[in-house]
Amino acid sequence: MQIPAPFDYARATDVADAVALLDRYGPESRIVAGGHSLLPMMKLRLARPEWLIDINDLFELDYIVREGQWLRVGALTRHNTLLDSPAAAELFPIIAEAERTIADPVVRNRGTIGGSLCQADPAEDLSTVCSVLRAEVVLRGPGGSRTLSMPEFHRGPYETAAAPNEVLCEVRFPILPRQGSSYEKVERRVGDWAITAAGAAVSLSPDGSVSQASIGLTAVGLDGTAAEAEAVLTGQRPEPGLIAEAARLAAEACNPVADQRGPADYKRHLARELTTRVLTRSCERAALQED
Ligand SMILES: Cc1cc2nc3c(=O)[nH]c(=O)nc-3n(C[C@H](O)[C@H](O)[C@H](O)COP(=O)(O)OP(=O)(O)OC[C@H]3O[C@@H](n4cnc5c(N)ncnc54)[C@H](O)[C@@H]3O)c2cc1C
Repeated sequence: MQIPAPFDYARATDVADAVALLDRYGPESRIVAGGHSLLPMMKLRLARPEWLIDINDLFELDYIVREGQWLRVGALTRHNTLLDSPAAAELFPIIAEAERTIADPVVRNRGTIGGSLCQADPAEDLSTVCSVLRAEVVLRGPGGSRTLSMPEFHRGPYETAAAPNEVLCEVRFPILPRQGSSYEKVERRVGDWAITAAGAAVSLSPDGSVSQASIGLTAVGLDGTAAEAEAVLTGQRPEPGLIAEAARLAAEACNPVADQRGPADYKRHLARELTTRVLTRSCERAALQED
């Protein structure tokens, strides 16, 4: 049986209290949200926080609201809530398509969007979704709030720009006209982490050309989105040949490593095929949108 190292525990009553507790107990304190990434790491002694600050009573961080040109999602929103959200499904089909593939109902009932992004595991499906949708994150610390883009927030595998005394409070998705999006993942068995997954979002101009394209890949060593592949599509009509070329460039831009999930060339092959599929679906969905 794996048992975590000893730790102390405090239950925050609101965001200000969580920030104050993190500030008081210092860098050896950690937020616990769903606990589905942190607790396994503690049991394996890969994480040894001295204090756990529990934010599960902070219902103020559990919401999905459409406001102006943004969909605002509280950091404590559970995977299942996002999966079942009509607003998220209508605006961003990529969210439900990704959520459906994350683990199983037990994990999805507890795991949160905030925990997923703060964990910054390169195989985390929501990190790709948030990069593709050009989401912003809102952090709160002792000095107030600040808003970061995903490239600013994710510094690398398991590393974010959040200071030890900051709480991730919100993830914001910009709503663009005539946008379609999609996510597809290949896994060894249902509920497993990705061998490879791809996500895309495409916005179309009234004349049918691509005004903005965004392509992300999961678990294959692509930081952020595939800029060269996106540039090939921008300003052009998304014909199948062009989508195939963008998918080839995206697969070239990633850096998969061989592991128990498969050899690198197989993962690169998946990256190309999955990118073709999600781009095609995103363009079809964008074309169906009203202005
Ligand atoms: C069996 C299993 C299978 C899984 N499969 C997948 C999968 O296929 N795809 C996938 O994407 N994920 C998968 N996951 C991970 C799952 O999505 C987790 O829910 C997620 O990674 C972490 O969310 P959490 O709320 O549980 O975070 P926690 O474990 O509570 O926290 C994770 C990290 O984030 C920090 N943190 C959490 N919330 C905040 C906040 N608001 N502000 C600042 N720091 C914060 C914590 O301090 C900790 O460092 C799986 C997990 C398990 C156990």
